[in-house]
Amino acid sequence: MNVVESFGLGVSYRGTWALRDCTLAVPEGHIVALVGSNGAGKTTLLHCVVGLTTQTAGEITVLGGIEAGSPDALDRVAFVAQEAPLYRQITVRAMLTVAANLNQNFDRNLAETRLANLDIPLERRVGRLSGGQQAQLALALALARHPELLVLDEPLARLDPLARHEVMAVVMSTVAEEGLSVIFSSHVVSELERVADYLILMSHGRVQMVGAIDDLLARHVVLSGPTNEAESVADQLIVVQSQHAGRQTQFVARLDAPMEFPNGWLAESISLDELVLAYLRAPSASAMPGPLAVATNRAGR
Ligand code: ATP
Repeated sequence: MNVVESFGLGVSYRGTWALRDCTLAVPEGHIVALVGSNGAGKTTLLHCVVGLTTQTAGEITVLGGIEAGSPDALDRVAFVAQEAPLYRQITVRAMLTVAANLNQNFDRNLAETRLANLDIPLERRVGRLSGGQQAQLALALALARHPELLVLDEPLARLDPLARHEVMAVVMSTVAEEGLSVIFSSHVVSELERVADYLILMSHGRVQMVGAIDDLLARHVVLSGPTNEAESVADQLIVVQSQHAGRQTQFVARLDAPMEFPNGWLAESISLDELVLAYLRAPSASAMPGPLAVATNRAGR
């Protein structure tokens, strides 16, 4: 099952495309990192997934073909927005009551157990919790609905490294226990490899790269060699990004099939950090599954 599937999805605001031609098929069971520079369209895509934004073009479904934002989807998808929508003046206990009244599937015991494990006092006013505790509370409220898909818009943005680690630890242990799928947007590229196993990279409203992180890393190399041979070597590769320093040239390249490199050239494996940065620096480069892969998924649902 694909937890998100979109075809030609576009959102335009007064004639300007915030999201354009977005064709995706994200399989279930992954922790998906959605990455891109400011204004790339990440929030817009997430809002389409949870039904907060209606598309101008194309289509989007969740959880195996359910219309995004439909009542069935809303029951099974949980969303934590960038500014966690908490009532700051009331206590954590009252916040749990509000959430229980709004959601018939709300598992209050689960939420209270999670908050107790995190030493978050139920009698404290929400506004007096630290940023990390507020993020944990928003996450506990979302997880207590037992969603099949959890969508988090920059859950880590305002948190210190320890709090980031703790929030993602909760997400990862819930994935291990309950097998839900997670999509979260983030700017913290250096921490993605530890938490995510699937990547969507966006640039200027378009999806630039998508796939399982292990596959993407296996399909790219960092290649260094003499600048005077660089042009002929580049002809045999899909070069994402190149850097020349005197007589040495370095490429980040995509390999669609195994290949032998000429003598004098060194091929090294690439880190996720390097891969993401290379694509962010080369917005016109793309690493997408062929159109057939998505077409097959659509036909099969
Ligand atoms: P950031 O990382 O800064 O949060 P983002 O990748 O989430 O950015 P979006 O918030 O999706 O990007 O915005 C994509 C583009 O759409 C931006 O150019 C933004 O200014 C524009 N945009 C988003 N929402 C609206 C809106 N309601 N009205 C007009 N333009 C909008």
